[in-house]
Amino acid sequence: AIILGIESSCDETSASICKDGEILSNIIANQTVHQKYGGVVPELASRAHQQNIIPVVQEAFAAAKISKKDVSAVAFTRGPGLLGSLLVGTSFSKAFALANGIPLVEVNHMQAHILAHFIKQPKPTFPFLCLTVSGGHTQIVLVKDYFDMEIVGQTTDDAAGEAFDKTAKILNLPYPGGPLIDKYAREGNPLAYSFPEPQIPGLDFSFSGLKTAILYFIRDNKKLDENFVESNLADICASVQHRIVTILLAKVKRASKQYNIKDIAIAGGVSANSGLRNTLHQAAEQYGWNVFIPDFEYCTDNAAMIAIAGYYKYLAKDFAGQDIAPLARMSF
Ligand code: ATP
Ligand code: MG
Ligand code: FE
Repeated sequence: AIILGIESSCDETSASICKDGEILSNIIANQTVHQKYGGVVPELASRAHQQNIIPVVQEAFAAAKISKKDVSAVAFTRGPGLLGSLLVGTSFSKAFALANGIPLVEVNHMQAHILAHFIKQPKPTFPFLCLTVSGGHTQIVLVKDYFDMEIVGQTTDDAAGEAFDKTAKILNLPYPGGPLIDKYAREGNPLAYSFPEPQIPGLDFSFSGLKTAILYFIRDNKKLDENFVESNLADICASVQHRIVTILLAKVKRASKQYNIKDIAIAGGVSANSGLRNTLHQAAEQYGWNVFIPDFEYCTDNAAMIAIAGYYKYLAKDFAGQDIAPLARMSF
């Protein structure tokens, strides 16, 4: 089966071709218009999706050397995400399915982040635990089967990606700041400054206290030295990243014990973070975990994860009707 996958939930317009579970192309158009606003502007995002979607799909077909008439089904992100952005991908996919007389498959974006692990070997075996850390979500998910997943822990306020991006904003770094903090952190000392670890019960997370602590820390130090941030950027980034990673890891450790599962995966944009990836490799040695870390290309938003999720739904003949509507909020 050949699946066309479409992703448009936030500010990446992406199309991918998947043939029998193998990704043949994964084209991603990043929207740069948001940079000067320091965050994604929903109205500009949907307009950019409209401009990008046809060329991105054409490029995905060309790169895969596949013809439109050979597609078995079209899979698209139904939610969660920005409604105006989701509408572009949903409408395109409905029209494509109708015009070509093929089935339509709806995909949950957060499930797709997890199912990105089934693009390449080694693939995890069920059940496994997945720490999904992205721009809008922070979840520990008990993954029992492809579409049988249970959220066993999640953030009570900000997402881990937001903690990175908001810290970057405080440090005057451009949006999205996560990758930049990662870059500067490599040159810094993670123990230079100590930020508080929130005391949240169970498997849930909280990151808003950390953001406030960083804000006050920077404000107070700038009073003493106006060049504090510039002179200590690497140490600040390394210390913030270290704290975010230790918060995440503590809960994963707890979940692993609670469910007696040692197969641990990470997913979502923040799983591209080198500090998190290194820490997870160390934890694998220390606790005897089997860790699964996606290729960089499949961490942040991409349509390959939508196509692979769509492929498994296609095999299960789980199709959507033409009356389907996108959902800004969507659970699983
Ligand atoms: P969601 O998936 O929750 O709807 P999203 O799709 O916007 O949100 P993703 O594209 O999965 O999120 O991830 C984007 C987030 O990942 C941003 O917050 C970005 O800063 C963060 N991120 C990307 N690379 C890194 C990195 N190397 N280190 C830290 N954070 C990173
Ligand atoms: Mg994005
Ligand atoms: Fe995402």
